[in-house]
Amino acid sequence: MTLFFPISARLTPKALSLSLIGFILLVCVSLILATAWQMVQSSDERVDAAKIAVSNIVLAAEQQARDTMLQADNTLRDLAERVAHDGIGPDQQKRLAKLMARQVNNIEGIQGLFIFDAQGNWMANSFSEGMQAKNNSDRAYFIYHREHDDQSIYVGSIVESRTTGDMVIPISRRIDTVDGAFAGVALATVPVSYFQSFFKRMDVDDEGVIFLALDNGELLARRPTIGALMTTNISKGDIFSRYLPHSDSGTAIIRSIIDGVERIYAYRRLSGLPIVAAAGVSYEHVFAPWWSYVYQSVALVGSIILALAFLGGWLYRQIQQLLVAEGDLEVARNELEVIALTDGLTSLANRRSFDGAIQKEWRRAARNQASISLILLDIDLFKQYNDHYGHLNGDDCLVQVANLIAANVSRACDVAARFGGEEFVVLLPDTELAGAVMVAEKIRISLAHARIEHAASPFGIVTISSGVVSTCNTGNEHYKDFLISADRLLYGAKSKGRNRVES
Ligand code: GH3
Ligand code: MG
Ligand code: MG
Repeated sequence: MTLFFPISARLTPKALSLSLIGFILLVCVSLILATAWQMVQSSDERVDAAKIAVSNIVLAAEQQARDTMLQADNTLRDLAERVAHDGIGPDQQKRLAKLMARQVNNIEGIQGLFIFDAQGNWMANSFSEGMQAKNNSDRAYFIYHREHDDQSIYVGSIVESRTTGDMVIPISRRIDTVDGAFAGVALATVPVSYFQSFFKRMDVDDEGVIFLALDNGELLARRPTIGALMTTNISKGDIFSRYLPHSDSGTAIIRSIIDGVERIYAYRRLSGLPIVAAAGVSYEHVFAPWWSYVYQSVALVGSIILALAFLGGWLYRQIQQLLVAEGDLEVARNELEVIALTDGLTSLANRRSFDGAIQKEWRRAARNQASISLILLDIDLFKQYNDHYGHLNGDDCLVQVANLIAANVSRACDVAARFGGEEFVVLLPDTELAGAVMVAEKIRISLAHARIEHAASPFGIVTISSGVVSTCNTGNEHYKDFLISADRLLYGAKSKGRNRVES
């Protein structure tokens, strides 16, 4: 199997820097994504938990309202039956008043019980007062019962009690004569404060709300209470206009039309009663701990990212420094290589370099059965030159001769080297004897033309002798024998009078 990216492969320095930046970016992006995902997750959890909490509050409010309404209904049904059977003469009035006073004491939440005749006159009540003076035929519930033969409980909008002056919720029932004609109304009053003090005990925040309303949107009780409770209708609010038409219960995130606070609400229509209960906790309150979690997470992730960026920057600089050092080392290595292979005085290739070159070229010539030539050169009477002009001038002369040799050796594969002392060597691969002799002659003649003064020489100028050898390498000979032949020819040139080429 071939891996797309072999793990063992050595990265180039640039790829290493890019990988480092990529890795750090990947870690940072992953951190940010993971944190963001966790925040979204925990925000959803908070909303879900708040929905469950408000739904439970609504259930408790519903229970409370239902208990109160059903107890009131039972009592009113009982009173209506008594009146229908026994009439409402003065004796009955007294008995009923006593009975009603007892029942009010027994039933929590009911403040007063009343019986009105068909004209709305007060016939009996649990307070045993104001009997003659008052008439309730103007109340909405009275008018409703007079005009509707409806045997069910009627819950009216809040009124101010004519007995106590409190805000009360009227719960009423029609009283019929035995033959079914309208005989009056039985009424129970529940003070708004009864529900409100119950709401106060529920666990919602300062910005939270709990309310009961009639299904036409008129408020019956609210926490926190408002001054215009009696006249406030919330039928235009989202719960009544958007949600209740589709579902009798549910949850929603809504901005209140009363106080403008955005809340997570639960709402519920009470089955069999014209009442809606709802509760809401403020969105801000639900999210306050979430925000502090967000701030902490952002601070933590931010610090980690900063630390990573700092570490990444540091590593990046380290890599850049390593790269610079590696580059310097490369330059130094190249320089060293040049120094190791170059003659310090003449800048020609040195002996070591020549040895390497001849071994390589010798093998290649053997492989290709090719010609290879070699010129061994030696400055004539150089000892005398030194003796006459001094060693330093001798060095200058060596440099001049070396430059001349180099100038006459032009092909890229040719090698001119200082062989040692005042001896030089020129290696000419793929060159036959005639060509090599030509090069040797060119060197000798150009040196003669240079006319470097040599007073101690019979020529009067610096001259050079050379031995030229050439072979078509069959691989049977050793290159050292080749060199020995050249040396022998050079010796011959010397003995034949110097300043000449022997081949
Ligand atoms: P021949 O014509 O027979 O070659 O005579 P020669 O004097 O050139 O030969 P010999 O081998 O007797 O002397 C070589 C001289 O070259 C000896 C030495 O002083 C001189 N020499 C060798 N290397 C250097 C060098 O690096 N600088 C200088 N200035 N002289 C050198
Ligand atoms: Mg010599
Ligand atoms: Mg010499």
